[in-house]
Amino acid sequence: MLNVPSQSFPAPSSQQRAASGGRSKVPLKQGRSLMDWIRLTKSGKDLTGLKGRLIEVTEEELKRHNTKDDCWICIRGFVYNVSPYMEYHPGGEDELMRAAGSDGTDLFDQVHRWVNYESMLKECLVGRMAIKPTVPKDYREEKKVLNGMLPKTQVTDTLTKEGPGSPSYDWFQTDSLVTLVIYTKQKDINLDSVIVDHQDDSFRAETIIKDYSYIIHIGLSHEIQEDFSVRVIENVGKIEIVLKKKENTSWKRLGHPLENHNSLIPKKDTGLNYRKCQLISKECVTHDTKLFCLMLPPSTHLQVPIGQHVYLKLTITGTEIVKPYTPVSDFLLSELKEPVLNNKYIYLLIKIYAAGLFTPELDHLQIGDFVSVSNPEGNFKISQFQELEDLFLLAAGTGFTPMVKILNYALTNIPSLRKVKLMFFNKTEDDIIWRSQLEKLAFKDKRFQVEFVLSAPTSEWNGKQGHISPGLLSEFLKRSLDRSKVLICICGPTPFTEQGIRLLQDLNFSKDEIHSFTA
Ligand code: FAD
Ligand code: NAP
Repeated sequence: MLNVPSQSFPAPSSQQRAASGGRSKVPLKQGRSLMDWIRLTKSGKDLTGLKGRLIEVTEEELKRHNTKDDCWICIRGFVYNVSPYMEYHPGGEDELMRAAGSDGTDLFDQVHRWVNYESMLKECLVGRMAIKPTVPKDYREEKKVLNGMLPKTQVTDTLTKEGPGSPSYDWFQTDSLVTLVIYTKQKDINLDSVIVDHQDDSFRAETIIKDYSYIIHIGLSHEIQEDFSVRVIENVGKIEIVLKKKENTSWKRLGHPLENHNSLIPKKDTGLNYRKCQLISKECVTHDTKLFCLMLPPSTHLQVPIGQHVYLKLTITGTEIVKPYTPVSDFLLSELKEPVLNNKYIYLLIKIYAAGLFTPELDHLQIGDFVSVSNPEGNFKISQFQELEDLFLLAAGTGFTPMVKILNYALTNIPSLRKVKLMFFNKTEDDIIWRSQLEKLAFKDKRFQVEFVLSAPTSEWNGKQGHISPGLLSEFLKRSLDRSKVLICICGPTPFTEQGIRLLQDLNFSKDEIHSFTA
């Protein structure tokens, strides 16, 4: 079955999401980096062999283009000639060939849904599948205006059988305020669960309910002020979003429905949704790692949950490039800084790779410049901390980033916790992020211990050396009690993480006791 999009042709702006499984990069030939690819796409060379024409592609035609030299792939109903891209694909030619002459949407989504293929492959676009698009479910709905809650039938229309019970919404008003109420019917809802954006007259609230998103998306009938407040009544799973009217008039209706309004869709099928955030500060942390502080627009409510990442998007020489980053909190810096209202800021510790594509560009941003930030993604769950007694963190390089919020949360919120140990792998002493802050924390909180392991130390280093190994791990992972409840979090370069997981399994830790961070 081909995945044909219902939206207009050509594809609108990209909506990308994170893949949950990791993937290995293959070494690329000289001159085949992403930047080289972007240069080729800008060279004016005819990459489809169709001299700029877009065609309608039948299934039979698609099937015929199934060799390395003539390879067409369909993604979400659009067909690309990926032969010229083969040598530039970080996952290798074989991975691309798995979808040759067929619909690669599902394969693509499994591995790298967040990659902005519309922008990266736009010069390879052959055309669209010659199949009539299906009528969107909410077609009739779009013709109507909203007058409060939609009839129940329309809500349940969009629910899938295995999803959570049907959420719903309602609204009411006073002279100056409009309150939108979302009834999730779930108990584990908190302020992290709801992401609200208001731009021009478009108002969008996405509530994460287990693996689903419940979306309210409305073209408001009247103007509202930029800022709004969000409250969650946790024990009943009710969310209240209080909007301030620009004028004190009575609203007869809330507005008209926009894309996906009042629908509950699997999270993996929703777009990522970006908003522009302003760079507020940029401070050196090590010789190559910087702490970026981004400010969310006043018309956005977004909190990145512990262990989750966001995608940053920049346009680099005309191509939209997206990379994942894991926000940190400033709790390790709190002695040095005035506390700030964290829910308006996103802090990112980012290593700048001189030969990298994205990070040098990010580093060139000036204070006051904007960068697009996506909704959060990730599979870490706070429930993994329940009754936890021993927490072990294994981090390599910037793989330290998810550990920052985890450390803070665990030390502050888990009464059962007896021990938290961080083993932090780096090349040299100069590469260690927030070393003195970690040492201070260990001094202050006796439950916390930190060990640094260096792979390329100077002769003065008298700490641990080498790479992740059975010896290092078995000595490090000592439980506080024989059968204590344990969680081990691991993050770093993919081969480090993969090797670490193998070693942990060899040491008889179960899958439930290991959490690895990947994208
Ligand atoms: P790239 O262009 O990707 O290059 C990086 C380096 O690898 C360069 O030295 C380059 O020469 C080399 N290279 C690139 N491709 C290949 C190849 N095929 N073969 C061999 N060498 C190659 N990073 C952070 O700093 N902070 C974070 O908080 C953070 N969070 C992340 C969260 C997740 C879920 C994931 C998956 C990654 C995270 N990263 C984080 C890494 C980040 O997403 C980028 O990969 C990183 O910033 C490098 O981007 P770049 O475009 O600048 O470099
Ligand atoms: P780095 O400085 O290159 O490496 C850090 C340490 O890991 C070094 O001691 C290094 O040893 C060691 N190491 C590297 N590869 C290894 C391997 N195959 N086996 C064992 N040890 C290995 O790291 P970095 O540049 O900061 O990169 C951090 C990585 O973490 C990036 O790949 C980034 O994508 C990833 N990351 C992932 C997430 C996530 O949530 N998934 C979040 C943040 C970062 P050597 O000296 O031998 O290289």
